[in-house]
Amino acid sequence: MARDKYICQACLAAGRYTAADEVDHIVPRAEGGTDSENNLQAICRPCHDVKTRAEIARGANRSHPRRGEKLNADAGAQTLGGGSKV
Ligand SMILES: [Zn+2]
Repeated sequence: MARDKYICQACLAAGRYTAADEVDHIVPRAEGGTDSENNLQAICRPCHDVKTRAEIARGANRSHPRRGEKLNADAGAQTLGGGSKV
């Protein structure tokens, strides 16, 4: 990711400069994230592993997802018609 200068953004947030090996979805696709650049960041493998494990752990707690979450994933499509509520 040229935008991130191939520096791991998770390490950067912790004040470290680590070359990124991979591209990560900031919001996982399983949680409604998109492939847009806004949702992608450069990340190094160790950070990606940690993040992926955390996402899996979160997913394990989602065996009974709340109904609202599915609506949130579709929220982008609803913005056009959102004015009718006002
Ligand atoms: Zn990192």
